[in-house]
Amino acid sequence: MTNCDDTDAFEGASLSARAMAVRPTPYLQGLNPAQREAVETLDGPVLMLAGAGTGKTRALTARIAHLLACGRARPNEILAVTFTNKAAREMKERVARFLGATVEGMPWMGTFHSIGVKLLRRHAELAGLKSNFTILDTDDQIRLLKQVIAAANIDEKRWPARQLAGLIDHWKNRAWGPEQVPAAEASHFNNMGTELYAGYQQRLLTLNACDFGDLLLHVVTIFQNHPDVLEQYQRWFRYILVDEYQDTNIAQYLWLRLLAAGHRNICCVGDDDQSIYGWRGAEVGNILRFEKDFPGAKVIRLEQNYRSTEHILAAASGLIAANAGRLGKTLWTEAKGGEKVRLIGHWDGEEEARWIGEEAEALQRGTRGLDPVSLNGQAILVRASHQMRAFEDRFLTIGLPYRVIGGPRFYERLEIRDAMAYFRLAVSPDDDLAFERVVNTPRRGLGDKAVQTIQMQAREDGTSLLEGARYAVASGRIGGRGGAGLRALVEAVDRWHRATQVSDYDHVRLAETILDESGYTAMWQAEKTPEAPGRLENLKELVKALESFDNLQGFLEHVALIMDNDSEDAEEKITIMTLHAAKGLEFPAVFLPGWEDGLFPSQRSMDESGLKGLEEERRLAYVGITRAERLLTISFAGNRRVYGQWQSQMPSRFIDELPADHVEVLTPPGLYGGGYGAAAMSAGIEDRAARADVYNSPGWKRMQDRSQARPLGQPRESRHVVIDLDAVSAFEAGDRVFHQKFGYGTVEMTEGEKLRVAFDKAGTKHVVAGYVVAAGAADDIPF
Ligand code: ATP
Ligand code: MG
Repeated sequence: MTNCDDTDAFEGASLSARAMAVRPTPYLQGLNPAQREAVETLDGPVLMLAGAGTGKTRALTARIAHLLACGRARPNEILAVTFTNKAAREMKERVARFLGATVEGMPWMGTFHSIGVKLLRRHAELAGLKSNFTILDTDDQIRLLKQVIAAANIDEKRWPARQLAGLIDHWKNRAWGPEQVPAAEASHFNNMGTELYAGYQQRLLTLNACDFGDLLLHVVTIFQNHPDVLEQYQRWFRYILVDEYQDTNIAQYLWLRLLAAGHRNICCVGDDDQSIYGWRGAEVGNILRFEKDFPGAKVIRLEQNYRSTEHILAAASGLIAANAGRLGKTLWTEAKGGEKVRLIGHWDGEEEARWIGEEAEALQRGTRGLDPVSLNGQAILVRASHQMRAFEDRFLTIGLPYRVIGGPRFYERLEIRDAMAYFRLAVSPDDDLAFERVVNTPRRGLGDKAVQTIQMQAREDGTSLLEGARYAVASGRIGGRGGAGLRALVEAVDRWHRATQVSDYDHVRLAETILDESGYTAMWQAEKTPEAPGRLENLKELVKALESFDNLQGFLEHVALIMDNDSEDAEEKITIMTLHAAKGLEFPAVFLPGWEDGLFPSQRSMDESGLKGLEEERRLAYVGITRAERLLTISFAGNRRVYGQWQSQMPSRFIDELPADHVEVLTPPGLYGGGYGAAAMSAGIEDRAARADVYNSPGWKRMQDRSQARPLGQPRESRHVVIDLDAVSAFEAGDRVFHQKFGYGTVEMTEGEKLRVAFDKAGTKHVVAGYVVAAGAADDIPF
């Protein structure tokens, strides 16, 4: 048994801390020497840089337990940043288990966003906000940007709000406020980017609102401008721990660096091969620079993988080896043998879903000669959320219980968003976006003109829309039926708001009252459409969800922040989620469907970011493979319906990058009577030929030939051409070009490296200059 023998820790420690310190330390048991070092090196910066499944998160958690057990910090003095709320919850549970006690009050364990919002509420006034500020969701954000764009007399159709949202997000990820955006970026969005950004930020302040990016940006700005505030937190957070450090963006990085600058007790863990959020501004460079940022840092590498069997690990290592510019790591496992990675091709996405459904049930029963795997132990990880529907449909049909994580969420449904807008108004009556959403829902006899009148009134008086409405009614600018309805709404909001001002108010009752008095419930009761009963059910569910919160504001905050909506009920369920959401998780059996070029690797990511995009996709594949403990099944379909259109698909290039020795190719069931017999084939052969014949495709043939597979390291034949960017970027409107996927077209517009091309067959698309060539040059390229 090991005791907490760090005697320094006793100095000045309380009696209870000392008593804790001589208790056994179960959290150290079973850790390997490198992990122990990471846990026990308490002073100064520590970096754990290691591959998937090597026990980074486990060591990080043990470190928290150790800090507490040694009395180095109280629970509320530890800042621990994880990637999802779910991960934070699990970490809390694990620490509690390690210490054999419930850990009360680790308020600073959570995601960057959840911690950011807490800090910002405390210091909102330093950012020009009130502490009850609203957090906008994407929809609200877009609506607001549309207004900002319209106010600047810009045609939103040509310069869409979504594009501006992306640009602003990109700037915020770099911790640039409107004044910090460098001149080199000023040309974006028709030279109006920075100005509109400033206008948008101003509007947010007026609305007492912020978007997700602000949760960090504001805090970083406050820290930079108010050293006294920063110092207070530098002292308060005695230890800082960060999981998945490879996916931090610049703003998060600055935030951490500022906080750690005093005592430098920061421990970061990550894996450069698992950096998958570059598209959202993550900088893998942050992890590679750690030793420079924190000189003298102890760097700990872990090599033993405890999660996966030999074949799974070999498949992952083989695949990721194709990426250039990685640190490179050796990984080994004691789990020898086991099943090879299974690879199967299907006729179409429906067949793939059918097969996976049957396979999941078979695994659950323990047939196929394998140990049973409960449904909770199985996951389907998809590249794109539109892939989920086929599985959901199939599983509903056969009654296979499933949970979707990160898919279309409960809180994104129309009725829920409306109801929440009412709750938001009750909490912050000057939440104009919420007001706009519900002012005429249910109908109160207010036409567009009345709404404009309210807006004008509010603008004239410099007030919120609610106040504008109040005045417009009082002054008779809006009368009649609409006026009466509006007056009732304004008075109701006043009442609800007053109710929220009472401490310990019954927020569940209040929520029910709001839904009744507003007429919102009645609206759906009166509606005779087939979906109305479902919507009423959802509203009930919403009120039920409120019970586990202290008040409306706490609940609204929770909803604004949740990234995962897994209901923790008892029933066994198979999990469906995106690869991105699966980071850090593990399952005994994993299905990776849809390994088809264009879908995975995603065409969009390659078009937008070229080779960099492809490498990020490959890391995503690596993350997917390394989630599996015992059984991994990769599949692809020859045909897929994407947004209602049939497309024939080629197997993913990643399939050919898997080391053949560790892969077993399964025979697909076939659609036409089962098996692969001649009769079965001929029954459907014409139909197959009429669509796309996957089984004759080069990818399929290559797969069939795997028994004499391509020797490792030998490149596959290239279907994609990398073109020297400098040589071809000088396109201008009117040029004829050729794109490998979309064929010939004419350039309509250029914006830096981005071109808008009217393709002869594929329609108008935005492409990166590096992916097209001048039309004449296309003839020389060996596709
Ligand atoms: P990822 O990169 O995917 O986030 P990770 O490095 O964080 O992986 P963990 O999730 O901490 O890895 O650990 C992977 C699995 O190995 C877990 O089930 C964990 O309990 C187990 N594990 C970690 N360290 C040890 C150990 N020393 N002995 C036995 N099992 C271990
Ligand atoms: Mg982890």
